[in-house]
Amino acid sequence: MLSFDEEIDILERELADLLGFSEEEFIDIIRDVGFSCDCCGRCCTREFNGHVFLLEEDTDRARSLDPDAIMPAPGFEVCDQHGRFYVSGYALRTEPDGSCIFLDGGRCSIYDQRFSICRVYPYMLHREADETGTVDWRQISGLNEHGCYNTPLDDATCARIARETREYEAAFLDQEIRFQRALRDLFAHEKLRYVRRTYDLRMRDFLRGAEVEVRVFHRGRFEPHRITRNVYG
Ligand code: SF4
Ligand code: SF4
Repeated sequence: MLSFDEEIDILERELADLLGFSEEEFIDIIRDVGFSCDCCGRCCTREFNGHVFLLEEDTDRARSLDPDAIMPAPGFEVCDQHGRFYVSGYALRTEPDGSCIFLDGGRCSIYDQRFSICRVYPYMLHREADETGTVDWRQISGLNEHGCYNTPLDDATCARIARETREYEAAFLDQEIRFQRALRDLFAHEKLRYVRRTYDLRMRDFLRGAEVEVRVFHRGRFEPHRITRNVYG
């Protein structure tokens, strides 16, 4: 198990690598792939994407649109000795069928106000394992599984996509780094400990239907929620 400082070091290195990734290479890849969306709507469903993670400004907007639009992001990262989980942000709620609550008739009902990840998807710029387990930089999520390819994209469009995608990835890492720093400070201040066995036992209870407390990082604070697995459908 890594310490908070070790987690922060890794995230800071990831951020430095992201900022150092060649702009020209990224733009060339975007142009060469020539992705275009055919508006199938599948990326707005859990079937295609596990959950829609929200940056802090997205969370504020989602709350202003509908206070019930958000839920603690799944994949709790840490648990203290009292069995309370911690996670770095919120995700969009889904309908029982797994579709985003803002999806209406296959179209986004808040398109002009959609969230950061919705704007950049399917573009990405981070290292990820492929189906063979090889970890490398990935630029398109679900390559060849959706949309159309070899579409001519002009230089300005490619440059805009590259800039917005990198900005999103940097904002995501920044939120993760601030989360880890806040955790480190909270655990030291409240004499909390992260015990992997407590995490595993509490997660087993959660998966069996028990209610658990999840503290969600938002704008420098941890917001407490009591949830059961039903919140994830
Ligand atoms: S907010 Fe709109 S674009 Fe984003 S996942 Fe929901 S329906 Fe899709
Ligand atoms: S981005 Fe892909 S999955 Fe989402 S609507 Fe467009 S083609 Fe479909």
